Amino acid sequence: MYVGGRFVGTDNAETRELFDPATGRAFGRVVEPQPSDLRAAVRVARKVFDESEWPWLSARERANLLLRIATKVEELGETFARLETLQTGKPLRESRLDVEDCVQCFRYYAGLIMQPNGMLLSVPESVHSYTFRQPIGVCGLIVPWNFPLLIACWKLAPALATGNTCILKPSEWTPVTALLLAKVLDEAGLPPGVVNVVPGAGDPIGRALVEDPDVNRVSFTGGTATGLNILQAAALNITRVSLELGGKSAVIVFEDADWECAVDHALFAIYYGAGQVCAAGSRLLLESTIHDRFLSELKTRAEHIRVGDGFDESVEMGPLVSEAHMRRVLQFIDKGREEGAQLVTGGKRATFPPPLAQGYFMQPTIFAGVTSDMSIVREEIFGPVLTVQPFVNEEDAVRMANDSQYGLAAGVFTRDVARVHRVVRRLQAGITWVNTYHTAYVEAPWGGLKRSGVGRELGIEAVHEYTEIRQVQISTVYAKSGFYPA
Ligand code: NAD
Repeated sequence: MYVGGRFVGTDNAETRELFDPATGRAFGRVVEPQPSDLRAAVRVARKVFDESEWPWLSARERANLLLRIATKVEELGETFARLETLQTGKPLRESRLDVEDCVQCFRYYAGLIMQPNGMLLSVPESVHSYTFRQPIGVCGLIVPWNFPLLIACWKLAPALATGNTCILKPSEWTPVTALLLAKVLDEAGLPPGVVNVVPGAGDPIGRALVEDPDVNRVSFTGGTATGLNILQAAALNITRVSLELGGKSAVIVFEDADWECAVDHALFAIYYGAGQVCAAGSRLLLESTIHDRFLSELKTRAEHIRVGDGFDESVEMGPLVSEAHMRRVLQFIDKGREEGAQLVTGGKRATFPPPLAQGYFMQPTIFAGVTSDMSIVREEIFGPVLTVQPFVNEEDAVRMANDSQYGLAAGVFTRDVARVHRVVRRLQAGITWVNTYHTAYVEAPWGGLKRSGVGRELGIEAVHEYTEIRQVQISTVYAKSGFYPA
C-alpha cells in the first residue's frame, strides 16, 4: 500500500495472488489490507486536507505539479503499458493508448485549473456577490479492472487539480499500475498523504471507504449492482457520489452509411478490449435492407481477428481478465443458445498451445435472430459477444436503441446529416458517436443516463464534481435590514 508518502505493509498475513490472463500463471502478490489499514489511510488524507497547505496551494503551483506528473508518466510510458498488459491481458497497442490518454489528462487539467474560478453575479448594486469553487475534501476513488490506470488518472487528475486529497482503491485484480503511479506521484513532488493507494477487495475495503464519515466524495466506476450498493452506503453520511456504471450500447447502421467505415467500427465497437469496455457497442442494429450482406461481411471479418497474448505486437484481441469472468461470459452464450438465438460465429473459449494453453481467451462471437427480451440483448455481458437485430425505419431504430435500462453510449452510421440530428437528439445516451466509435477525449464529459450512472468524468464537468461551489454576498454599504426598527 502507499500511505502517507511511503509504501507500507499490513498486519494481515494474507496476500492476494495476481494472474496473467494470457497464461493463467500467477506473476505476483499484493497485500490484502484490512479495514483498519483503510481507516488509517483515510485519517492521513483527512489530516493533510484539514491541516496542510495543500488545498490552499495556488492554481499555478498545482498546474506545475500536474505537468511534472504527466512528464513522468510519459517517460515511464512503456513500463506502464507492459504492466497494464500483464495484469489485464489487453494488447500492448491498447495499453499504450491508455497511457497516452493518462498523460493528456494530467496536462488538460493543468491547463483547465488556470482558468477563472467563479463568477461575479449581477445582483442589486449595494451588494457585491460572487461565486468560487473549492475542493470538497477527502475523495474515495474506486476503480475497476478493465482500465486500471486510465480510470485512476481520469479521477486523480481533476481531484488533484482542484486541491483534494485522495484514497485510490484499484480493483483487487489489477492493482499494479496504480501502485507504480503512486511512486511517480511521489517523484513528481506530490506532498505525502495527498494520494494514498489502498488495494483490496470491494468488500470490505471498498465498502469501508464509502462508509467512512471522513470521506467527502466517492467517485466510483464499475458494475451497476455495485453502484447501487455504493449509493445506499453513501446515503448514510450524505457523501457526494458519482457513478460510472455499465452499458448495453446500440450501434445503428442505416442503409446509406459508408460501408467500410460502418463495418470497421461495428467490429471495433464490440471487440476493442475484448468487449470488456463499459461503452462497448454490444447491440448492432442494421437497417433490414442491408442486414444479411452486412452480417455476412461482419462474420468473415470477426473470424479474421487475431486473438492471442497481448505482448505479441500482431495480436488484435487479448484474453478476458480472469477465469471467473470468462466462465460468466460463456454462461451468457449458453443462455443465448437456450433462448433460441442463432450463433453466427464464435461462442467458444479460444485455445492455444502452451504457454497460452491456460489463458482466458474467447472467440469473437456474433448472435443473430435475437429478440429484445433475450438476456443476451438486455444484460451487460462484458465480453466479445455481439447481438445483431434488423430494424425497418428510423423510428424503429431509435425505439430499439432506447429499449434498455442503460444509457451510456450509442453509435449512428449514416451519410444523412438531417437524420443525424434527428436521431442523436432522441437517443438516450450520455455519449453518441456518429460515423465513429470509442473515442474518448479528456475535453469531453463522459458518463451515462439511466442506470449507466450519475455524474460525469472529464471535461470541465469533472472540475465541478471535485469542488463545492460557494456564494458570497458583501454589502458595499452599512445599511440596516429595516425589519426591527428601534
Ligand atoms: P465491480 O463493480 O465489480 O468493481 C469495481 C470496483 O468496485 C473494484 O475496485 C471493486 O473492488 C470495488 N467494489 C466492489 N464492491 C464494492 C462495494 N460494495 N463497495 C465499494 N467498492 C466495491 O466492477 P468490475 O467488474 O471491476 O468492472 C466492470 C464493470 O465496470 C462493468 O459493469 C463496466 O461496465 C463498468 N465500467 C464502467 C465504466 C464507465 O465509465 N461507465 C468504465 C469502465 C467500467
